[in-house]
Amino acid sequence: MIPLRSNIVEMKGYLPGFQPKETDYIKLNTNENPYPPSPAVISAIQAEVGDSLRRYPEPASTLAREEAGRLHGFDPSWIIMANGSDEVLNNLIRAFAGEGEEIAYIHPSYSYYATLAEIQGARVRTFGLTPGFEIIGLPQRYNGKLFFLTNPNAPLGFTFPLPFIAELAKRCDGMLVVDEAYADFAGGNALDLVRTHDNVVVTRTLSKSYSLAGMRLGLAIARPEVVEALDKIRDHYNLDRLAQVAAVAALHDQEYFRECVVKIRATREWFSSELRILGYQVIPSQANFVFASPPDGNGHRIYQGLFSRKILVRHFTDPLLAHGLRISMGTREEMAATLEALREIG
Ligand SMILES: *Cc1c(COP(=O)(O)O)cnc(C)c1O
Repeated sequence: MIPLRSNIVEMKGYLPGFQPKETDYIKLNTNENPYPPSPAVISAIQAEVGDSLRRYPEPASTLAREEAGRLHGFDPSWIIMANGSDEVLNNLIRAFAGEGEEIAYIHPSYSYYATLAEIQGARVRTFGLTPGFEIIGLPQRYNGKLFFLTNPNAPLGFTFPLPFIAELAKRCDGMLVVDEAYADFAGGNALDLVRTHDNVVVTRTLSKSYSLAGMRLGLAIARPEVVEALDKIRDHYNLDRLAQVAAVAALHDQEYFRECVVKIRATREWFSSELRILGYQVIPSQANFVFASPPDGNGHRIYQGLFSRKILVRHFTDPLLAHGLRISMGTREEMAATLEALREIG
């Protein structure tokens, strides 16, 4: 017997979305961006490739923090960079929730919070949603250590109103982490709450809206005391040299960023209305994906039909989600091909 900790033996481990080896799929299953990263990002990475790689990177990712700070209107002491936002979610649990202590999140939302809690040995509590997307059984005071609110929600795509998030922050004894992986595709965000509420942390990723899933870049915005704590916990060289220059270039090129986001939002609105014409129920989305259910409520059948036509979407076996599909927004052409396939499948 290998003497593993019992929680590690018992946990299943997170199952990421399928990444096929073949490149001829229309890939709409992991919410990646269909457009390439900014040309400025490619040049910055190319310029960094060379002799400098002998040297360790700058440990604090200072230039990237400054760029993100300028962009969002925060002093860099309020910003921490991460090797994917998954890293900072992990470190938030390590910083705030000890073994046997509780964290909470909405079900359905991002199930990776549970995996991270299991590694830490923290307990998990989930809150369900009403059909109108209100949280069921939210106590007047929530006394767990962390509450993760995925906003916009994944995989459903709706958002909680800002006044509700402010109210939730007040009700939390512990930290409220607003996971804004998709906020760049939405009409608003919770950054102001970081200034007004001591216990609010906002996390962002460059994987989706900045087309950099392959670089592993994320960040968190929080009070300097929280950032200092997270700085103690992270790998001291968490962002390599290529990731640091990529982050600065990506955050700096707002014109390219906005162009991509505008296209994806337009595709989302058009695709949603076309799906409704086909009789699908589509949750109004503020993200770069839509959650849609076919008229017969058999998400798996549609998943199979699309799969056999080399179109990959996400089907969840969770009984709350099995009736539908989460479909990432590709290019307009990819979505037109998807609609054509859905018409054939019927
Ligand atoms: C994609 C995603 C993340 C992870 O982002 P990375 O920066 O790629 O680690 C975090 N939270 C949610 C809700 C996501 O969808």
